[in-house]
Amino acid sequence: MANPEALIRPNVISLIPYSSARDEFEGREGIFLDANENPFGTLNRYPDPYQKELKEKLSRIKGIPAGNIFLGNGSDEIIDLTFRIFCTPGTDKALTFTPTYGMYDVSASANDVKMIRVPLNKSFQIDPDSFQPYLSDEKLKLILICSPNNPTGNLFKRETIEKITGSFNGIVLIDEAYIDFAGEKSFKDSIGSYANLIVMQTFSKAFGLASARIGMAFADSSVIKYFNKMKPPYNISTINQKAALKALDRTGLYRNRICKIKNERLRLTTELNKLQLTEKIFPSEANFLLVKVNNAKAIYNYLAERKIIVRNRSNVVENCLRVTVGTRSENDKLLKALKTFTS
Ligand code: PMP
Repeated sequence: MANPEALIRPNVISLIPYSSARDEFEGREGIFLDANENPFGTLNRYPDPYQKELKEKLSRIKGIPAGNIFLGNGSDEIIDLTFRIFCTPGTDKALTFTPTYGMYDVSASANDVKMIRVPLNKSFQIDPDSFQPYLSDEKLKLILICSPNNPTGNLFKRETIEKITGSFNGIVLIDEAYIDFAGEKSFKDSIGSYANLIVMQTFSKAFGLASARIGMAFADSSVIKYFNKMKPPYNISTINQKAALKALDRTGLYRNRICKIKNERLRLTTELNKLQLTEKIFPSEANFLLVKVNNAKAIYNYLAERKIIVRNRSNVVENCLRVTVGTRSENDKLLKALKTFTS
């Protein structure tokens, strides 16, 4: 098993993190004259830098100790921090399986890390032979796996992910942004078996809190330590921590919404399949459908004129639109509009 400490960039190991007023005095009671806050108002105090209450609650729900949890300003902050902690700019490499979530490439470029883009096979699965030759490259520090994958919507085979994680000496980040809509269990329970594994989830999708910007990372405590070291001191606002705590209390609502979205995913698939313009709908384990159509650009424009906005993904998968599953009435409006489309 890879030793994650050995993978940390030397400057990150020696970095002395910013020590905030809340680091130096952790008590909640008293007259606080230590952080140059304004004594007036309701949002006048800095947030808890380590989001202890939220992590405790998440720990109980996810069955993972709080010390194995990191929270970022969206998953996007976690992706960027992962590059900054493990990949030396101008020298190191990362690998991902394409087509996939665009932010991996953006973060790699922003950090001057070369991205190896290994194409998925025709069924959008990872070809077990495709990545093998790269694993021995000493400059390869990070593999990013998005499962369920955006924009293809499918889960990758569990045994392939396990094979990569078990045989790679670098960090494996599994992005499970859409896992709550999938029919398989998360990899979060494997963090005890693989010290080089980071499993990422988010409040943006199933919890319906995209505007609150909270991403979760589950990993070995020796890895979490460096995320805490590198992050900006107050990366999650108090308002957003409270919003997440509230969402975690509303388990009935969370389950009900997932159920509705999954039912609508099925209905939308059935109804879209009846349309002439649909060539193929790729099986989805997420809250969106990747739909191959006869003329993606024309259909995209036609829908946009009617104020129905989908995503044209033709530049990554030929003639494909990515359609988020909306409410029943939103989906009805989409279907109604598509029925009147003539190319
Ligand atoms: N990962 C994937 C696969 C995504 O599709 C997205 C957003 N579309 C994110 C991460 C970003 O999540 P967050 O809102 O937590 O930054």
